[in-house]
Amino acid sequence: MLPLKRGVSSCIKCHREAVTFIRYNGAHLCDEHFLQYVERRVKKELRQQIDLDEVKKLAVALSGGKDSSVALCILVEVLHHRPDLEIVAITVDEGIVGYRPKTIEKAVELTARLGVEHHLISFQDEVGKDMDQLARTKSDKGPCTYCGVLRRRCMNSLARKLGAEVLATGLNLDDTAQSILMNFTRGDVERLARLGPHIKVQPGLIPRIQPLRLVPENETYLYALLKGLPFSDDECPYADSALRNEYREIVNKLEDKHPGTKHSIVASYDSIRPLLMEAYPPAELGRCTCGEPTSNQKCMSCALLEEIKKMV
Ligand code: SF4
Repeated sequence: MLPLKRGVSSCIKCHREAVTFIRYNGAHLCDEHFLQYVERRVKKELRQQIDLDEVKKLAVALSGGKDSSVALCILVEVLHHRPDLEIVAITVDEGIVGYRPKTIEKAVELTARLGVEHHLISFQDEVGKDMDQLARTKSDKGPCTYCGVLRRRCMNSLARKLGAEVLATGLNLDDTAQSILMNFTRGDVERLARLGPHIKVQPGLIPRIQPLRLVPENETYLYALLKGLPFSDDECPYADSALRNEYREIVNKLEDKHPGTKHSIVASYDSIRPLLMEAYPPAELGRCTCGEPTSNQKCMSCALLEEIKKMV
């Protein structure tokens, strides 16, 4: 999907100038109808993923990038009729010099604009190490392995402390399609079964929902631009080493040749997910000594941190 040159085509809904052409369904849309198109899908996803009538406090994981900023903005908009439901934003500061401070600045700006309470948590405060330190260890695991595990821990522990019943992330269609392919090709069927929004409430684990799960990344980008949202476009300096980049390229190439591929990957996954979940039901969780939920004696973040201690 590319923004069109002015005057190239008109919106299929109102015949105003289109701002975009959506290749996978052949629709030209103006700014207003494009925004509505994205919001409709988010509302539908929310209805499918969770019964919001039961929720009184919802936390949004806000990085300051476009996806989580769009997720927060739409959630505030679609839930404005629920004064009994409080939305709070959580930002994790991993401690990545030259990258994270700018995204935090944008997150602060957005939450101030939307009137949303904003909470910060850092790796340094939570586990006594920052990401730049962790990346320097001689581990064969890439920086993103540490980052992903510790970030999930930080988000879960802060959301729990704040009394949130649900945690929304900015995961989009591209992320989801890439994760599905990655786990398929690695043969990690158990992890494949655990992708997707949480459907079982487990003690100590705040269930995660993914409102943008069916919204392609280029649409969240356009949405953020049209809404004038403050967000940072910078890329993490450790992103180069991420295996995900290879899958991003593959999925984008397929989408380019065969529009609709990303949706098909996720739809295929969704149709086999019940079978996967039957084969690999969510494990019963206990508590790690750090207080976080775990299916083993030790949670993943404590196990990783111990591994690092031995290396230094
Ligand atoms: Fe963390 Fe890797 Fe993402 Fe950087 S690219 S923020 S290290 S997960």
